[in-house]
Amino acid sequence: MLNIKNLQVKLEEEDKQILKGVDLTVEAGKVHAIMGPNGSGKSTLSYVLSGRDGYEVTGGSATLDGEDLLEMEPEERAAAGLFLAFQYPVEIPGVGNMTFLRTALNSQRKARGEDEVSAAEFLKLVREKAKALKIDADMLKRPVNVGFSGGEKKRNEILQMAVLEPRMCILDETDSGLDVDAMKLVSDGVNALRDEGRAFLVITHYQRLLDHIQPDVVHIMAAGRIVKTGGPELALEVEKNGYADILAELA
Ligand code: ADP
Ligand code: MG
Ligand code: MG
Repeated sequence: MLNIKNLQVKLEEEDKQILKGVDLTVEAGKVHAIMGPNGSGKSTLSYVLSGRDGYEVTGGSATLDGEDLLEMEPEERAAAGLFLAFQYPVEIPGVGNMTFLRTALNSQRKARGEDEVSAAEFLKLVREKAKALKIDADMLKRPVNVGFSGGEKKRNEILQMAVLEPRMCILDETDSGLDVDAMKLVSDGVNALRDEGRAFLVITHYQRLLDHIQPDVVHIMAAGRIVKTGGPELALEVEKNGYADILAELA
């Protein structure tokens, strides 16, 4: 589904190479985790995949179902089924959460040549998803993320994912300082959406998150590359010994 080959990225503003040849393949139905020391380029990878400004791709490729992601506008990436969990935690005063979600869903459907969802259909859909995630009606009406607590923002993020039904979900949880409750929210949300046709890339510092999510594949990123790939046992090894052993092995 997601195929990244020798991806090299530098900052636009500075002559600083951040990704130095990332290779990564994520198959449909799988959950892949990326762990790695601070500053290794994990967030940069997710930003570049989402199409955020400020980065220049200097080599390599990234495709989603064979389509060149790097050529697409951020909206086109979303319509193609890519979801970045940090894509929408922005606060949007004056725009109700429901309105925002419906607009996002319909613009993606339109871009795919699908019919828009009517107001009544959408209401039914969002109520059903919200109920499953224990989100109350009040939160659906409030302006997007405005005054939401950390936990509410997380819940909302999972709701966005549940409503938009993306095929490739990328969650960068590295810097969000997830507490235990938020971690459970995220992992329950991911687990509920796990599906043969959907894949996840979960970027995290926390082995604890992976206790709940149970990834199929774990990658270690260091200094702008994926340096080691293994099963869930790799995350346990990191928890026990840190990254020192893995890095020493490579050196
Ligand atoms: P990680 O998510 O693995 O902690 P990042 O992708 O955030 O790593 O950062 C990788 C490296 O790139 C770090 O050395 C970081 O300081 C640098 N970097 C990323 N974005 C910027 C930026 N906008 N300006 C300067 N340095 C940056
Ligand atoms: Mg960091
Ligand atoms: Mg990061």
